[in-house]
Amino acid sequence: MPKKDDDNPLEEMQKQLRDLFKNKNVQVAFAPFMQSMTGNDDTKKKEEEGIDDSTPEEPEPSRDEKLENIRTFNRKPKEIRDYLDRFVIKQEQAKRVLSVAVCDHYNHIRTCLNDSKKAKAPYVKPNVLLLGPTGVGKTFLMRNVAQLIGVPFVKADATKFSETGYVGYDVDDLVRDLVKAADGDTELAQYGIVYVDEIDKIAAEASKSGRDVSGRGVQINLLKLMEETDVNLQSPQDMMGQMKAFMDMQKGGKPKKPTISTKNILFIVSGAFDQLGENVRKRLNLNRIGFGSSDEQNQNEIPVSTFLGKAETRDFIDYGFEPEFIGRLPVRVACEELTKEDLREILLSSEGNVLEQYRSDFSGYNIDFKMTNDAISMIAENAAEEKTGARGLVTVLERTFRDFKFELPSTGIKSFEVDEQTVKNPEASIKELIEQNRDHVDDSMLEDVDRFIEEFKRNHGFELKIRKAAKVALVKLAAQENRSVLAFCERKFADFQHGLSIIEQRTGKKSFVIERKAIDDPDKELSKWVVDSFGKKRDQGE
Ligand code: ADP
Repeated sequence: MPKKDDDNPLEEMQKQLRDLFKNKNVQVAFAPFMQSMTGNDDTKKKEEEGIDDSTPEEPEPSRDEKLENIRTFNRKPKEIRDYLDRFVIKQEQAKRVLSVAVCDHYNHIRTCLNDSKKAKAPYVKPNVLLLGPTGVGKTFLMRNVAQLIGVPFVKADATKFSETGYVGYDVDDLVRDLVKAADGDTELAQYGIVYVDEIDKIAAEASKSGRDVSGRGVQINLLKLMEETDVNLQSPQDMMGQMKAFMDMQKGGKPKKPTISTKNILFIVSGAFDQLGENVRKRLNLNRIGFGSSDEQNQNEIPVSTFLGKAETRDFIDYGFEPEFIGRLPVRVACEELTKEDLREILLSSEGNVLEQYRSDFSGYNIDFKMTNDAISMIAENAAEEKTGARGLVTVLERTFRDFKFELPSTGIKSFEVDEQTVKNPEASIKELIEQNRDHVDDSMLEDVDRFIEEFKRNHGFELKIRKAAKVALVKLAAQENRSVLAFCERKFADFQHGLSIIEQRTGKKSFVIERKAIDDPDKELSKWVVDSFGKKRDQGE
């Protein structure tokens, strides 16, 4: 007879775990885990003690504040658009459409929370299909929306799902990940945003072979998720989850199966849909036959991605989507390709853009840089050639700054300028900059010698009093040899530990002065000291 559904499937496992936990070693190894299960974790302690880990400038709202903000959601689409404008350049249409969808969704949630009758009325969730080439801000838009509203956000590629979930990732894992993103808070997670990228890949699979491959199965699974279903919070492959169930059962009898409803989760699916753009162009061209060939010619000059905005339901079905699947994505909008002017604008005005990250990396060494207008234009132009949207900016900036990041922290150079020449040939520019500053020695470089002195004392117990002129000489010689000051000093004084130990045995001396002249040939100086020490008795001064 088949097993009944309400039989406890965990029974055997729980028995084994119970035996396992009797073992002392296992108890120790799992102590942190057990603590977290009983809610005695650090976060909770911090909450109780009123400790706030978040940055003082933009305090992260508490979980209760976030929930309250959702319950009383009152933003207007234009406010959301204006917020997005601070970060995302261009994509006006996508900003408008998303702002409306997001406001509709969270307004609906607010209404349902306050009016149980409305909650039962039929409702079409404004799940979004976001089309457009890579790196143009599709994910960035949604991440920023989630940040503004204070809801958890997760992103995954459709290509990594398997239909059955036996291998790899199954679509339910998306929802479980959302709970993780909400620090285990299921109440907050149920209002989160799930973003599934590369959706075009699972459609294309089905269309090419003309029969069901895993793509169709994944579409059906996603479809259920997008509508409304309860997802078991314990993945069958999640050992920790199973153990939590066991712990819960230990505390209170029959284990409850924790689930989360996807009713209020907003789904965004996206993809580049290259071929779809081409298909739409062809369809439009065909429709125009007879209206004159100049129209057709013009259409062929327009970038393919422009046609994505004109795609209709039948185009998606022809592309390999299930009609029901595409039907659950009522909000469709295309993002535009970014031109070199847009990329330039990102560097100049998008809040938190990648250039700011480089500024912050350099400021870690108290180094500052300026950029000429021409340099910014050239970076944008080179980035546009990469054809990876704003991601091209990272590639070009990395190329431009790579050697600067490696070389400058070990020099006394505290500021530099990036011009067109730097972008064209960063290697030559850094060489020239270092050459110009060859004789410049500043305090931070002398501090590198001090770090060597400290390290030497810590490792060998001897104090080296290196005179300032000697320090300057060490720094310059290190630069000439293209070595870090620390490694250079370690090599220069490699034999000192041995020699100084001999001197210490004879004289008890532990502190040594190193003058400028000793730097040219430290071993010779050391030999002299050793020889001298033979004439001295123990405990004689310096
Ligand atoms: P995709 O369209 O492939 O989802 P992303 O949104 O992940 O691309 O973009 C990658 C990164 O490039 C973002 O994190 C952001 O820093 C930058 N970026 C992309 N598009 C824009 C844009 N329109 N405005 C400002 N930054 C952008």
